[in-house]
Amino acid sequence: MALETPNHTQTVAGWAAYDSSGKIAPYIFKRRENGVNDVTIQVMYCGICHTDLHHVKDDWGITMYPVVPGHEITGVITKVGSNVKNFKLGDRVGVGCLAASCLECEFCKNSQENYCDQIQFTYNGIFWDGTITYGGYSDMLVADHRYVVHVPDNLPMDAAAPLLCAGITVFSPMKDCQLLESPGKKVGIVGLGGLGHVAVKMAKAFGHQVTVISTSPSKENEAKQRLGADYFLVSTDAKQMQRGKRSLDVILDTVSAKHSLGPILELLKVNGTLVVVGAPDRPIELPSFPLIFGKRAVKGSMTGGMKETQEMMDVCGKHNITCDVELIKPDKINEALDRLARNDVRYRFVIDIAGTSKL
Ligand code: NAP
Ligand code: ZN
Repeated sequence: MALETPNHTQTVAGWAAYDSSGKIAPYIFKRRENGVNDVTIQVMYCGICHTDLHHVKDDWGITMYPVVPGHEITGVITKVGSNVKNFKLGDRVGVGCLAASCLECEFCKNSQENYCDQIQFTYNGIFWDGTITYGGYSDMLVADHRYVVHVPDNLPMDAAAPLLCAGITVFSPMKDCQLLESPGKKVGIVGLGGLGHVAVKMAKAFGHQVTVISTSPSKENEAKQRLGADYFLVSTDAKQMQRGKRSLDVILDTVSAKHSLGPILELLKVNGTLVVVGAPDRPIELPSFPLIFGKRAVKGSMTGGMKETQEMMDVCGKHNITCDVELIKPDKINEALDRLARNDVRYRFVIDIAGTSKL
């Protein structure tokens, strides 16, 4: 880890949840000085990921209050440490879930920092100096440059912000399942939310046939017309699910609440793979029969490594993939979190932190 980073002397204005009521209020706190390996970023936009909601409500029992959420951050560089060669003042950059890792283990050395067992997250993490990390619901961020990526010139900073978590979280398992290099597969996306809608766009851009599996019949038209999905299955409709049996090669499950994987597994062909990226607070059901009768595999995936995150940004730049966002001012964060909890967002709230958009 970057042990040379000095004191926490910079005052920053942000927004935090103070307890598990989950209500967000202004919060003034300190950040470290810009160290030799750091860049300072004026935050422009920050997406509201469902993980933020899990944290502010302490769904997972790990929240350290006050928590300043936010790990879908875009902004502009205002300071550059002396060791930093790949960023300069004024660069348009993004920061996702990762703030620090050991840099020495097999995963860090293999560009898979996301699986380092000393990984520290952008918020609700404990930095090497014992301080709690604070995320992007704030006007300024100091970040180790190794966890910062460039935002391609053609991508707007607001609609690109959710790529830093939602985007990389679905890109990484797609790459792992060889979906980048072998088009023509049948791909299922369960849950059409922040992660799910980017997954549909990516899978289409990579040349696959895409089936959305959703609890919301009201999303069918836009899933097909706006996002480009080929098929739409309502997961609560047993007949539709029956018709989809053994049809898919790979499925990504992005659902944020407890559910059974059984009916989803039935949609996979023999030998198919289900990747779980959604993180409900209670265990998901995994019945053995659909698993063993189809020789199917279930695996997980957590965000992505930094090299892969830059690759994802570049691929999105190439294919012009951005997120469908609803921009809000910071004083509407609570309303947005309530709507996200009710599954009422198409498809990501993004906070206009710097106040640069016309709202
Ligand atoms: P989101 O925008 O709220 O989307 C989740 C979607 O799940 C909803 O839009 C809804 O889609 C579906 N859903 C919600 N409640 C459901 C229920 N009770 N049963 C079945 N489906 C339900 O959330 P998100 O930001 O995409 O995040 C999704 C999950 O991924 C969260 O748990 C989050 O913490 C996790 N996550 C994991 C990683 C990782 O690294 N693995 C990274 C980021 C986020 P339909 O209306 O289409 O059913
Ligand atoms: Zn996230």
